[in-house]
Formats: sequence, C-alpha cells, structure tokens
Amino acid sequence: MPPLKNDCFALPPGVHWTPVDEALADLRTRLSCVVGTETISVAEALGRILATDITAPRAHPPLPNTAVDGYGFLNGRGEGDHHIPLVAQHMPAGAIPDTSVPAGTAIRILTGAALPDGVDTVILQEDVTVKDGAIHFTGPIKQGSNTRKAGEDAKTGDAIAHTGRKLTPADLALLSAVGVAEVAVRQLLRVGILSTGDELKQPGEDAGPGQIYDANRPMLHGLITQLGHDPVDLGHVPDNLDSLRTRFDDAALKTDVILTSGGASAGDADHVSALLNEAGAMALWRIAIKPGRPLALGMWDATPVFGLPGNPVAAMVCTLVFGAPALATLAGAHWTDLQGFMVPAAFSKTKKAGRREFLRARMRDGRVEVFASEGSGRISGLSWAEGLVDLPDHAISITQGDLVRFIPWAGFGT
Ligand code: AMP
Ligand code: MG
Repeated sequence: MPPLKNDCFALPPGVHWTPVDEALADLRTRLSCVVGTETISVAEALGRILATDITAPRAHPPLPNTAVDGYGFLNGRGEGDHHIPLVAQHMPAGAIPDTSVPAGTAIRILTGAALPDGVDTVILQEDVTVKDGAIHFTGPIKQGSNTRKAGEDAKTGDAIAHTGRKLTPADLALLSAVGVAEVAVRQLLRVGILSTGDELKQPGEDAGPGQIYDANRPMLHGLITQLGHDPVDLGHVPDNLDSLRTRFDDAALKTDVILTSGGASAGDADHVSALLNEAGAMALWRIAIKPGRPLALGMWDATPVFGLPGNPVAAMVCTLVFGAPALATLAGAHWTDLQGFMVPAAFSKTKKAGRREFLRARMRDGRVEVFASEGSGRISGLSWAEGLVDLPDHAISITQGDLVRFIPWAGFGT
C-alpha cells in the first residue's frame, strides 16, 4: 500500500467556503486504501471488505432441478385431462439421478432434487390426483414449468463479487452457494477516537459547574462500529499541546486513522489545529455546511487525522457526511455516495443560499418530519432522528408536501 503523502490534505491558497460536494470530491481523489489483507472464512466475513474479485468455482444450481414438490415428466401438455403412469423411484433433494425416466411416465420429485434424464417439466403436487399408480391432472402445463436451469443463478467462472465490496448477509449466501469457503478481505481499519477539551468529564465522574460530560467519544465509538471499522479508544486529553502531542505519538503507532473532536477551529484553545500546523501537514477545510465548523485535516507521523468539531451534533453530521466515505476509502471499500431519496416534507422552512444544511429528521406516514429545534447543542434531536434531511447549497423555500431529500442513517453506510 503506498502511504498517504504528508500534503494529501493541502488546499490551494485563497479558497474559502468549499461546497460539500467539492470537499467530498477532494477527499475521494486524495484518499486511498491504507490497510493490508487477510484471509478469513466466509462465515466470519460479514461487513468485511473484499480484497479481490471473486469468481464462482461452481455453478448455482449445479444441476437442473425442481423448484417445487411434485411430479416430473418430459414435455408440456396441452388443454384437457392427462394421465401419466408413475415409475417406482422417488427423487428426494440431494439424490443423484441414476436412471432415466421413460417417455410417457412420470416420477415423484421433491423440491431441490436434480431432474433425472427424461424430465424437463414438473407439475405441482397440489395440481394432481394420484390414483392407480398414475397422476391425473388438467392441462395445460408448459414445458419447463417449475424447474430451474443449471447455472441460472451463477455459472462457473461468473464474477459474483468485486474488490471493495462490503459483504452483506446475502453476499455470504451467494459465496457459500457457489462453494467459496474463504475470502481475502481487507484488515479492519483501526480508527482512533480522541476527545479534547479542559471542560470535559467522563460519565461516572463528578462534574463541577462549567464542566460537561464527554458525549462525543461513545457516539463516535458507536458510529465507527456501525460503519464496520475497529474503534480504538484514545481517551480524553485536556487543551494542552504537550499532552496532545504525546497522545498523537502513541495513537499513530496503534491506529490507521485518528478522529479527534473539539479544538479543531483556529481559536486560542484549538490545540488540534495548532499541533497539526506545527507538524506542517494540516489544512483547515472551511466547508459550507450546517451544522459544522471547519474540519482540521492533517497527517501525524504518516497517520491521517480528522479533526472534527466539538459540538456533538456537528461532530456526528461531519462524521456521517465526510468521515463515512473517507474511512470507507481508507479501509479499501468503494467510495460511497450519500444514498437519499426524495420524499414529501411534513414541515416548512426557508433557507438562504451559501451552505448545505442537514436537518435531524425521520419518516412518519410517508412524510419526513424534522426536529422542532435546529439548535446545534440539541443532542436529544440526534437521538430522536432516524436520518437527515439534506438541503441544497442554494436558497430554497419548502412548504409541506414539497419533495425534499431524506437520507436515513443507513444511507450513510451505518
Ligand atoms: P470546540 O470545538 O472545542 O470549540 O468545542 C465546541 C463545543 O463542543 C463546546 O461547547 C465544547 O464544550 C463542546 N464539546 C467539545 N467536545 C465535546 C465532547 N466530547 N462532548 C460534548 N461536548 C463537547
Ligand atoms: Mg474545545
């Protein structure tokens, strides 16, 4: 894996508020996979990212077979009553067809069983009467009814999954069905999570007046877990340059990427920015997004650092919008565009031009509603929400019933 370059986040001078899509396009071109590969069993591979293309070693299904419990024979039959004598054998699933079924006779056959020679059509057992060693039914029935062709799902050698694919439960079924037992996947991306700020206390500790509890660390830990990466808890550091430097040095040894929250602007206490600046490998991405503050992107000892805003609402939105696709790329997955869909609004709102806005939202009765307050300190609104409404950069006036873009949490890859 070629390492990311120290200047990988550098911005041209004079660029001010970057539109979200531009920032995303920039991240997309600058980032690449930073993790190695390992081979694991398919059974353990849920959520892992394929490191190779996979071709089917075997067809699925391997032989033509029946899709129903019934009776098999050759050719369809026209309108009217039909009587076909039965042979003595049965074909249960898994049996190898060793005899052929003589023309003009039928065989009892059970779902999944391979079609013996002399059978290309199966009639559902509910559609026949069995009497005197023969089946009796009323046509028509088309040739090939209720059967599956060999390889109709996948042929030997078909490409069934591609490098960069994050494996779903259905993928595990497909891989297993064609006989793949092990897969080469990307090693898990180790994502360090660090909270910064003199005012922070940990849940369980006493908090004095003026102090607040660290809400970002458990939230980011949860998000990183849901995004399929390996969260590494880096704890909390006060606003102190030396403590932060020591923590970064340690983090760079045991993580592939560091997420910090707080201290990322350009204020006096913003040590994350200061330190990354000191390392000479930092860029403050001023992105035209609400909620959000500048993102401090930098490199520490060849490890990328994403300096998120401290505000929990902004930290979560920035992690979902920028962090999720960026981390996916570092982890070897495909870049993932935000997956939203247009739905009628259950709210009205007027928005000025100049920045993209994400509102805490959820779907109810086919319409999307937004949280009563847009206050950036309202963590309760994040907890209430089941996704975000994504409003465009330009000015817009929404009345109830207008179509707006809703991105459920899953649309961010969680
Ligand atoms: P900062 O970006 O450090 O200026 O922080 C912005 C706001 O977010 C301040 O009100 C901080 O107290 C708050 N904040 C920073 N980190 C956290 C955290 N881990 N949990 C909750 N609030 C935080
Ligand atoms: Mg702070």
